[in-house]
Amino acid sequence: MTSQEINLHEQLKKYFGFSQFKGLQEEVIKSIVHDHNTFVVMPTGGGKSLCYQLPALIKEGTAIVVSPLIALMKNQVDAIRGISSENGIAHVLNSSLNKTEVKQVKEDITNGVTKLLYVAPESLTKEENVEFLRSVQISFLAIDEAHCISEWGHDFRPEYRNLRHIVKRIGDDIPIIGLTATATPKVQEDILKNLAITDANTFKASFNRPNLYYEIRPKTKNVDADIIRFIKQNQGKSGIIYCLSRKRVEELAQTLQVNGISAVPYHAGLDAKTRSRHQDMFLMEEVDVVVATIAFGMGIDKPDVRFVIHHDIPKSIESYYQETGRAGRDGGEGHCLAFYSYKDIEKLEKFMSGKPVAEQEIGQALLQEVVAFAETSVSRRKFILHYFGEDFDEKTGEGADMDDNVRNPKKQHEAKNEVEL
Ligand code: ADP
Ligand code: MG
Repeated sequence: MTSQEINLHEQLKKYFGFSQFKGLQEEVIKSIVHDHNTFVVMPTGGGKSLCYQLPALIKEGTAIVVSPLIALMKNQVDAIRGISSENGIAHVLNSSLNKTEVKQVKEDITNGVTKLLYVAPESLTKEENVEFLRSVQISFLAIDEAHCISEWGHDFRPEYRNLRHIVKRIGDDIPIIGLTATATPKVQEDILKNLAITDANTFKASFNRPNLYYEIRPKTKNVDADIIRFIKQNQGKSGIIYCLSRKRVEELAQTLQVNGISAVPYHAGLDAKTRSRHQDMFLMEEVDVVVATIAFGMGIDKPDVRFVIHHDIPKSIESYYQETGRAGRDGGEGHCLAFYSYKDIEKLEKFMSGKPVAEQEIGQALLQEVVAFAETSVSRRKFILHYFGEDFDEKTGEGADMDDNVRNPKKQHEAKNEVEL
């Protein structure tokens, strides 16, 4: 071990109390410490934040962290402040700060106190902020959730596309580190192209989740009864059910309650208080099941979710992967059951019809992958990993037998023929 490595372990222990790096963290951190442009693709929960937080704490100057969600930035700032006696070690710079607060932030940066400055891309485009950041020492720029740059990503944000120009104005040779959990080769290419980075050290972790069991069933009129039966067979276990519409969420939650299942609804149409109460009830295990739209789940870290049911098929493989990924975080069983009917695909197509043509084309291409996935008769894990640009051996790979097609090849084949008739 070189002195550099020993040093990093010490710093890890000192700041975060961990004695081991997770996965590729150490390699990533070395790359940043040595001022290389760096690109990190790691599944959710992989430990991406630490990849830029630790180098920021070690290096001279202030690291700028771009992140799309104010709530997530605040969480991280609080966490970093918790490990230091110096409150100014981390700051958020956004439009909600008053003059005095902005002055304090700038003072802390100028005085070298602030190691991490979190900004939303909108704030970074402000002329006065650019001018200020030009005048101080910046260690590197981290772009978290970097898939927001790409129209092929599941959360495209136009402001992210300007980052390259702004960084250039702040300082021509500031190293950039991009991080994302979106693994498709297309999105990755897009990100690097937009940032005009040709020399990035790229680190990509495997997206295989061997403890998740993937199952797709045909969706019939009896889907609610199918779901109730499944939950009753899994009594007392925590689960999430995703529906496309708020109305369906409400209806299904009620149906479950009437059938003696403890369930609460969650969607963006509920007031903030109800939403956070329902979320807490689920986290504290006062209820077993949350029926939700995709508004539920961002940043939710419940390790023992035992099943994720898709009442409606998602609009992309990325969404499916993200949502099913909330099951079995603790490494224990995680049953991912999706109900599929081509009618739902047509519904999703209809939703897109009002959108700009370019967006529709992308949406269509993503949907066709979902259709192929739902209708495939080969290993679902292989399909997902292939979609993410990863090889998987369906005979010997980890978790190879953890899907319906592999466990039950004949039945699937018949089911498919039925659909084709
Ligand atoms: P991501 O952004 O990739 O989804 P996070 O950065 O939020 O992941 O980290 C996920 C969890 O892993 C956090 O609870 C974090 O504290 C934990 N974690 C990160 N690195 C380590 C480590 N080296 N050892 C133990 N836990 C870690
Ligand atoms: Mg993250």
